[in-house]
Amino acid sequence: MNGLVIAIDGPSASGKGTLAKRLASHFGLPHLDTGLLYRAVGWRAERSGEPPEEVAASLQADDLADPDLRGDDAGQAASRVAALPEVRANLLEYQRRFARQVPGAVLDGRDIGTVICPDAPVKLFVTASVAARAERRFQELRGRGADPIRSRVLAEMAERDRRDSERAAAPLKAAPDAYLLDTSDMDADAAFAAALAFMAGKGFRSAGP
Ligand code: C5P
Repeated sequence: MNGLVIAIDGPSASGKGTLAKRLASHFGLPHLDTGLLYRAVGWRAERSGEPPEEVAASLQADDLADPDLRGDDAGQAASRVAALPEVRANLLEYQRRFARQVPGAVLDGRDIGTVICPDAPVKLFVTASVAARAERRFQELRGRGADPIRSRVLAEMAERDRRDSERAAAPLKAAPDAYLLDTSDMDADAAFAAALAFMAGKGFRSAGP
């Protein structure tokens, strides 16, 4: 792994996806939202009845295009199949190949810095309080025209955190060498600025303006 690999992990609604996209565009790197892979596996397996590990082994571009994958039901389905070691094993090589691209890549997920790219030169662990993250998700759902119940959004977020952190296979946790970015009181611009400052400290600057 010789390129600039930026590994970003953290719980849902921590701001890691937005940060990953911005860093990818800033450094001119491709970006992989690895959560989408688990969402696609969970969603297709639940609907078709196929074993999740077989879905993971035969995932197609079409599976990733369904707009329903962004919803909370798909997120819960993802977190259930993500606990299965065979599912994780079947998605591993695709993610590693993505990370090996020249001149590098940005990947975001739960185990990028710990399992997928343990040698990544830049690791960020983006987090925020569960209350702050639930409020973001609540506002996001409302923005999409849904009518969410605040307490339910919070309970589901806490449940997914618990499942992702307590599972035996690649649990959500920061790599020991990851930079911890708590975005509870930060907007997306502040999080981006903090990540850039951290990267500049390690000698990584964009060649652009
Ligand atoms: O990031 P996102 O909310 O889309 O992820 C959905 C679920 O997929 C997570 O709750 C987690 O269980 C699983 N996931 C994972 N490892 C990753 C990315 C996502 O286990 N690298």
